[in-house]
Amino acid sequence: MKDRISRRGVIGLGVGAAALSAVGRTQPSGGVGFAVVGLGKLAQGQIIPGFANCRNARLAALVSGHPEKANRIAAEHRLPSSAVYNYDNFDRIAADPEIDVVYIVLPNFLHAEYTIRALKAGKHVLCEKPMATTVSDAEAMIAAAKVANRKLMIAYRCHYEPLNLEAMRRVRSGSLGKPRLVITKMVRQSDLSDPSDAWRLDMHQSGGGALADMGIYGVSGARYLLDEEPVEVRATARTNRNDPRFKTVEDLIAWEFRFASGAIAQGSTSFDAADEMAFEVIGQHKRLVADPGCFYNGNHLYQWQGGSRAEIAVHEIDQFAREMDWMADVVRGRAPLVSPGEEGLQDMRLMHAILESVGRDGAAVSTNWGYRRAVDPAMAVA
Ligand code: NAD
Repeated sequence: MKDRISRRGVIGLGVGAAALSAVGRTQPSGGVGFAVVGLGKLAQGQIIPGFANCRNARLAALVSGHPEKANRIAAEHRLPSSAVYNYDNFDRIAADPEIDVVYIVLPNFLHAEYTIRALKAGKHVLCEKPMATTVSDAEAMIAAAKVANRKLMIAYRCHYEPLNLEAMRRVRSGSLGKPRLVITKMVRQSDLSDPSDAWRLDMHQSGGGALADMGIYGVSGARYLLDEEPVEVRATARTNRNDPRFKTVEDLIAWEFRFASGAIAQGSTSFDAADEMAFEVIGQHKRLVADPGCFYNGNHLYQWQGGSRAEIAVHEIDQFAREMDWMADVVRGRAPLVSPGEEGLQDMRLMHAILESVGRDGAAVSTNWGYRRAVDPAMAVA
């Protein structure tokens, strides 16, 4: 998501604002040191402020191509100038003992290169979603982590977020009855004049426009809500090629995943629609509605039975602090890797299958390649 939603999260609803007020505070000593690579909207709006809410992750270094910006942010966070790197001297992080984890917050097409360089430098990597722009890059990242014997975690904040976890647990408990249908709607407006969207609207740099940016939450969400992998997908797209935003990427995509259990997941994404990140799980007896369900905050979860609706109270957290703390725990051997590179790769392969079906006029594409997630977030995350 981009700034439109992050602004709502930061300024509108409190958690981010509290984090921002911590600018200038001394970092806690000790803890697992993170280098943040790429100081764009997400890094400045959410991730760097989020360290103030972390228990055991701390900001240790910044990597940027803009020295003025990097030095200003470093000064605000009491980091020495030696903690500021650029893309040319990036590999020198190998010799910096303050850095345990490298958090990749760059445009998607740069994720693979910087992940692999960080792993070669002996660091663990937390990489933003989508993991990469191609399946082969995602595979190369996983292979590099294995060779380096370092952890690779994909920054899927919803795997660690209380509302999404509560929805997973309710589905797992059987209280809805057998899950029949999952519906995910992950859409927003895009703006070609915003540099942060310009690369998202370029197929090479984003790996898939709205699908790679927003739709991925529905691809991943259907899987973790059902705790099952789709065996087949059919998809269709509606894209106005006269709109300058959609020269190389699709706009509106709707897909249908089929699961061996008989469940169906209908997903949709667009870069030309009113902001929404919502999902629904319809069981035989009850249904869950999360609307919104994946914003930074301000989410709501409801359970419907017949015509009556009950809101399920879920506490709000700083989702970025939570995932960075989780990564710190993984590095210290205190927590399992819930969203490893393999999870990112599965979503890359499924998004590729969606685009393949779009390109074949909605033909069914098999996704039955036998993947099973290693750790169920519903069971692993408190
Ligand atoms: P952004 O465009 O605002 O920031 C990207 C940063 O990378 C900028 O500071 C830019 O200067 C820098 N950069 C370095 N080399 C570049 C190059 N060759 N071309 C373009 N920029 C270059 O993007 P963002 O919104 O901060 O997104 C960054 C990443 O975070 C993306 O992978 C995105 O999918 C992800 N993201 C995740 C969430 C989430 O909720 N988990 C939300 C927003 C973004």
